[in-house]
Amino acid sequence: MPRTRTRELGRGERVIPGLWRLRLPLPFAGVPHCNAWAVAADGGLVLFDTGMHEPGSMDELERAFDQVGLSVEDVRLVVCTHAHSDHWGQAATICDRTGCEMWMHPNHQHGFAAATDPGTVLARRLEIGRQSGVPQSALERYAAEAREMPSGIAQVIEPDRPLVAGVSIDTDLGTWTVYETPGHAPSHVCLFQSERRLLISGDHVLGRISLYFDYGWTPDPIGEFLASLDVVDELDARLALSGHGKPFLDVHGHIEGNRRLVAQRLEAVLARVREGPATALEITPRLHDEPLTEANAGWWLPETLCYLNHLERLGQIQRDSDGDVERWLATLSN
Ligand SMILES: [Zn+2]
Ligand SMILES: [Zn+2]
Repeated sequence: MPRTRTRELGRGERVIPGLWRLRLPLPFAGVPHCNAWAVAADGGLVLFDTGMHEPGSMDELERAFDQVGLSVEDVRLVVCTHAHSDHWGQAATICDRTGCEMWMHPNHQHGFAAATDPGTVLARRLEIGRQSGVPQSALERYAAEAREMPSGIAQVIEPDRPLVAGVSIDTDLGTWTVYETPGHAPSHVCLFQSERRLLISGDHVLGRISLYFDYGWTPDPIGEFLASLDVVDELDARLALSGHGKPFLDVHGHIEGNRRLVAQRLEAVLARVREGPATALEITPRLHDEPLTEANAGWWLPETLCYLNHLERLGQIQRDSDGDVERWLATLSN
């Protein structure tokens, strides 16, 4: 994604008594900010997500806290919905300053590797791009840019507690329960406060439907995502507090919207493959209204590969890896 200068400032607002939204700037043109959610807990705060680490990013967090009369020093516990840098990048700095713990799901390797072993992660992405039919020159441009890209993570710290199903977090608003919701990322969890029907939804369900799946860490991100939508739908949440954008109502409607979009894109992949063998790169433009560019390919191509993997597991398509690149074709019954 193209990086731009940070334009927005950190902003804080109270959502309901005892719960605040901290809107933090991101250096991405398409995703200008992310949210951290502060919840009052026993004279301090539980902070759900942290924003990304980059020069000046702690100032933005402090500015957001300050606007609602709170401070980083109030944080007693950091809880991360998943291991993408915009959700846990500042965890180490906050824990360092306050002495608090950080809790996260144990399947966080997809996020940690970006900081601890960026060379291997990049090499893997380049190989996936090559297999998908991306020309060498474009891969080289992508690699040059990726090598310059900071990880967005202040420091890699191991979670003090694994955030697995059933773990609960006590706050002044009541107890929040952890639900594992892999799909967007293998480490993704949502947190639900059942009396108030509040859902901290991370990037699993967003107010503006936008799909992204980490490719290559688990066998079937799409299958996982669909199962995780069922998990969250079952909760019957009233208000969702998501990783990006404003809090939103009609959580069920948003979940349905996600299901519909996934179904549409799976159908579009199948339709293209039925026309004849195609690479992931050739299939990708069929899934989006906007044209495929070098700027969005790094985001869209892994998504296409996730659909292809899912359809392959369902027996609807198969791959032909004989040539230089991988081509996908419909199975005989399709
Ligand atoms: Zn994410
Ligand atoms: Zn995010």
